[in-house]
Amino acid sequence: MILTADRIITPGRTIAPGWARVVSDRVTELGEGSPPSPADVVLTGTLVPGFVDAHCHGGGGASFTVGDADEAMEVASAHLRHGTTSMVASLVTDEVSELERHVRVLGELVTDGVLAGVHLEGPWLSRDFCGAHEPSLLRPPSREDVDRLLAAGGDALRMVTIAPELDGAMDAIRRVAGAGVVVGVGHTDATWEQAGEAIGAGATVATHLFNQIRGLHHRRPGPIAALLEDERVSIELISDGVHVHPAMLRLALTAAPGRIMLVTDAMGAAAADDGDYHLGPIHVQVRDGVARTPSGAIAGSTLTMAGAVRHSVASGFTLEQAVDAATRGPAAALGLTDVGRIEVGARADLVVLDEDLAVTAVMRRGAWQS
Ligand SMILES: [Zn+2]
Repeated sequence: MILTADRIITPGRTIAPGWARVVSDRVTELGEGSPPSPADVVLTGTLVPGFVDAHCHGGGGASFTVGDADEAMEVASAHLRHGTTSMVASLVTDEVSELERHVRVLGELVTDGVLAGVHLEGPWLSRDFCGAHEPSLLRPPSREDVDRLLAAGGDALRMVTIAPELDGAMDAIRRVAGAGVVVGVGHTDATWEQAGEAIGAGATVATHLFNQIRGLHHRRPGPIAALLEDERVSIELISDGVHVHPAMLRLALTAAPGRIMLVTDAMGAAAADDGDYHLGPIHVQVRDGVARTPSGAIAGSTLTMAGAVRHSVASGFTLEQAVDAATRGPAAALGLTDVGRIEVGARADLVVLDEDLAVTAVMRRGAWQS
């Protein structure tokens, strides 16, 4: 199948107009101008890679955090309609035995290709920066718990967020990273030194930078400075106009060019209506698209990745920067090698955006989604 589009955004270059040949689930040829033979599909708008969401708890009225396979498939298909073709399912803090069970259930969907991996956000987080995580269930990472969850997750476990200042955290970071799992630093009161030590131990992601993390200070720079300045670290941002001010989004982009990963951190109300929801064991109310716990803490977003791209462009990112941060950036951070870019040999995961950056068509693994 040959597709043509007004513009195709590829790593480092925008082709306008452009064409791509898709055979089975792969992009096999790519070019500028007219295709070598008549197009099978003429697309109006901009062709970009399918979005890669590294941090998502729910959507479409459903949630990953209950550990139910049918609900998890609903989440993935709700976000797929908005262009997310690779999705990491994020769990929130719960009893270790529950997390073990949930990781196993979601792991089967990773094996089936529905999900790109599972992210454990908690229980090894700071009580002072717990956000919408149940504080009574937070704990330091014991070797036994780390090994239990690594064993339950197997190859499906793609990421774990850890607060480096907790007892045993450096050992846990080394063990998790040593098992080939990405370590995120987040929900943390770490010092600049502790965050740097965590990076030295193998941490490579800043979990939703600026949210639920000790703030920047000119004499005590803290974890944000350590994460932004180290080129080994990719920076998650929740770009929804609620979690992070546009000036801070631009600050992160300037400090960490090429290392930004837009994430939704979405809960059940993304691509769904306001109402009462759950985020793991926590009750969440959604009003006017903003999710909060009873105490008023922001409890995840109602974003889609397409919404994050639109908001980033409205905040001053170029379209290329926003698309890169929604596709190649997160794929690289997660070690996903064949998604997140339109190039020869990559998976045919494609999204068409109109001039308002609304999603008008989605292809996943070479198949158009209706
Ligand atoms: Zn969080």
